[in-house]
Formats: sequence, structure tokens, C-alpha cells
Amino acid sequence: MEDIVCNRCSLLCDDVLAEIGDEGAKSLGLCRLGHTHLESVANQTKIEVISREDGKENKLSLDKALEKAAEMLISAKHPLLYGWSRCTNETISEGLSLAKTLKAVFDSSASMGLSQSMSHNVQNMKLETDLDEVQNKGEFILYWGSNPVESSHRHASRFTVFPRGENVPQGVESRVIGVIDIRDTETMKMANHRIIIPHGGDSTLARALIDDLTGKTPIKTPILGIPAAILVGLSQALRKSDFTVIFYGTGLVNSGKTTENLSLLEELVQTLRKLGKNIYAMPMWHAPNDMGVVASSKELDGIPVAFNIASGKATQLSVKNTLQRLAAGEFDVVLVAGSDALVELPGQAARGLANSSIIYIGSTGTLVDNRAVLSLRAIDDIISGLGSMTRIDMKDIRLKNWDESKQKTQNVFYVISQLHQLIQTKLKN
Ligand code: SF4
Repeated sequence: MEDIVCNRCSLLCDDVLAEIGDEGAKSLGLCRLGHTHLESVANQTKIEVISREDGKENKLSLDKALEKAAEMLISAKHPLLYGWSRCTNETISEGLSLAKTLKAVFDSSASMGLSQSMSHNVQNMKLETDLDEVQNKGEFILYWGSNPVESSHRHASRFTVFPRGENVPQGVESRVIGVIDIRDTETMKMANHRIIIPHGGDSTLARALIDDLTGKTPIKTPILGIPAAILVGLSQALRKSDFTVIFYGTGLVNSGKTTENLSLLEELVQTLRKLGKNIYAMPMWHAPNDMGVVASSKELDGIPVAFNIASGKATQLSVKNTLQRLAAGEFDVVLVAGSDALVELPGQAARGLANSSIIYIGSTGTLVDNRAVLSLRAIDDIISGLGSMTRIDMKDIRLKNWDESKQKTQNVFYVISQLHQLIQTKLKN
């Protein structure tokens, strides 16, 4: 078996082994999600192109497909380059350059929550501890609006709950786990503190905890229908722990009060730091490289994720802008790279996308792959093993090449680079 890096979720596990033989894929250390992903992409060893017209599918050579894609994008009045959350950092950078060349809108699922939290003040508070530090020191782990057991399977077993660490020698027995969510989740089953709140109740709960911790208003009566004893237990666990990490997810950020919730999270962290506690708050997103999309776009233009370069200069777009324009059918050509946008986008935006002319570049078998007028199915990055991705704690992870003598370079980066070169040549001429 060979060392690989799993690119199925934002943990980018680099402590796993796999082999692909006549009987399919075998792996050691990969969780069920990772292994299923490996199996589904293991047999693709070169690019395949499908073109769809009037309900008919035809196979196309890569050269013809690139030519067709370049013409579509150049002649588009309102092109959108969307996706990127499953791409390597190198591919995202190439996509950003392509957006500039085309004067297009560039956006990603990372703009639906993660981007807001990464540009909020909560990120200026030196919260960037890494997952290895959490493994060694994490004493109280609080999942708030995030559910890793169902989406990032090894989060608890590799980093936060079960492993032993320097300051937590007995692993799970030395740690306390809390979960706050709007429903009973699988993650809640392993928690000592289980708090189910009504939808949108995050800010009320955060305010109650802050007021209790500062002594302003001690919790004595039920809040949000939750008995006072349960809330006091949570507050005391926060007060007692010397190393707390809050992993907050879409449940907290996308519950309709993004700025208010993030500001209260910031205040909660500040309150506990004033009490002399080590406390960190880290975003918990599951797409493999949403963090890379945010970091790369910020590096290029100082703007996190969604922006429009139609005038030649990048201007930031609100999270709703692309979704509304997609729903209204305003983008005539949409290049979707490395994401299953039809699954990720909310209903009306997904319907709008489905009615646009889609060029898809990515792994085989996604919904958008089956809907695109042009599908360029590239070798998945878990197989090509080239480039790097950014783990959810902002640590860059270099993918591992299975066998250098048989390098499989026909990945999404290769296709995007070829397409960009062709478009630049055509525009020059
Ligand atoms: S936790 Fe995520 S990265 Fe790790 S093996 Fe599972 S799917 Fe892959």
C-alpha cells in the first residue's frame, strides 16, 4: 500500500494508505466517506469528454472540447466561474487568473458562510490554533452548529475527542465534549453537554452564557426552553476548562444572523480570555478546500471569494448576489470547476444553474457532470496526487503522489491551465 492524502473532506487526512488493484481499491485508515470516494474515482486514468446537444450525448477529443469551451466563455456576455471547493490551491489560483482574463464573476460555496467568518473580526483574535494542538491540549471541545460525525468522520477520532495528547493523557476520559445544535445529531451522542436550541436561538444562548460568565446575570431560569441546570452546567464547563476549542459551523453562521452570531462568539471568547482561559474558535466546514478558496482569493485581490471583474478591477459581491443572479438566469455561461454545484447551491439558484449553459471540469459522476453541455471529466486529485490543499485549520497539506513513474497529470489543474492558455491566445489574436 502507498501513502496518500484523502481529499474527500476538509481534514485532508495524510496518515492513510491505499492501493488500487484488479479487485478495486483497498485502504487503511480512510473512513467510509474517504474510501467510497476513492473507489468512485479509482478507475479513471485519463480525461474523458462528453458533449450534450438536443438530448444527445457525444464523446469529444480534449482538443475539440477545449476549443468549444474557450469559444463559449469568450462569447459569453455574463460568464460565471463557480465551484473550486474540491480543487487544489494551484487550480484555484489558475481559476482566479482565468476570471481576470475573461472579466468574469468568480464565486464558490465558500462564500456561503466560511468567507463571512474568515473576514469577521473573530478571525483577528489569534484564534488560529491548529488541529494537532487541539489533539495535544484540547480539554473542552464544543461543537456549535457543526456535526462532524456525519460529515468529517475522523475529526473526533483523529484530533478532538478520542486521541490521547500531551495534556490529555487519557484521551476521551480527559476531555469534556459539548454539542449545541437545532436537532439531535450523531455528534451529540458522544457529548457530555447536549444543548438543543430552536432555529435562530444561537445569539440568545451566547448572550446568556456571556452574562452568566461575567456575573452580570447568572442563569437561574430556563432560556429557550432549556432548563437552567443544563445551561449552568455548560457555563461551568467553559469556566473550568483551561483549553477550550469551539468548532462552529453552518448552523451558527447561516442561521440568519451571521454578523450578530459571529460578534457574540467573539465576545464569548473575549470573556473567557479575560478569565485567564485559553480558548479558540475555529470554523468547521466540510468541503475539502473551501479554506483554500478563501485564502487564495484573499491573497490575490484582498477580497475573500465572491467578486466581479467585469470592469477589469475586482469588486466584492455579497453572498446573495451570485445566488440571486443564478436564480434569475443572468449568467449565460457557467464554468463549474471541482464542485457539485447543483447539490451545494440552494434550490432556486440550483434551478437557475441547471437552465444555464454549463461547462463542467471535475471528477466523474456528479449531478452537474450529468447536466453540463460540456463535461470534461478529469482525474481526481486523490489519484493524481499533485498540488496542495488547505486544511480547515489553515495548514497547507501537500497531496502525495502514488507512483512518480506513472504520474497522472490529467487533473483539473491541467484542464483549466490548457483552457486558460487557449483563451489568452484567442484573445490576443
Ligand atoms: S475524515 Fe475526511 S479526509 Fe479523512 S479519511 Fe475521512 S473523508 Fe478522507
